[in-house]
Amino acid sequence: MEKIEHIGIAVKDIVSAGKLYEKLLDTVIYKIENVDSECVKTAFLQSGPNKIELLEATANDSPITRFIEKRGEGIHHIAFDVEDIEAEMQRLKQEGFVFLSDKPKPGADNKLVCFIHPKSTNGVLIELCQTRKDMPM
Ligand code: ZN
Repeated sequence: MEKIEHIGIAVKDIVSAGKLYEKLLDTVIYKIENVDSECVKTAFLQSGPNKIELLEATANDSPITRFIEKRGEGIHHIAFDVEDIEAEMQRLKQEGFVFLSDKPKPGADNKLVCFIHPKSTNGVLIELCQTRKDMPM
């Protein structure tokens, strides 16, 4: 595992949250992207080396809807960069970590992603992400 790639924050309203985080970080959202497989809309901000992903649900059965119902708005996940997501999943499965999906999936911002179940990681949803090599940056 390498550096923290981004921190994901669940929000009810990505437009107003986006404006607030633009003010907070003194920057602008550089990308807004829907991830239909996860029923989320994402917005990315970069602050120095740090990246924040805002997530808004686009459906009532979105994982973000369920998260906000249970825990309210707030930090949703921490994402780590990995070189080889398949190898890292293999390693972590052998260590007993439970994943939310068997295979990596296309995620936002040109990544292949997978999530470790928060029950495996003291209540913190961990995302692994690998930059896709088949697409331009
Ligand atoms: Zn993420």
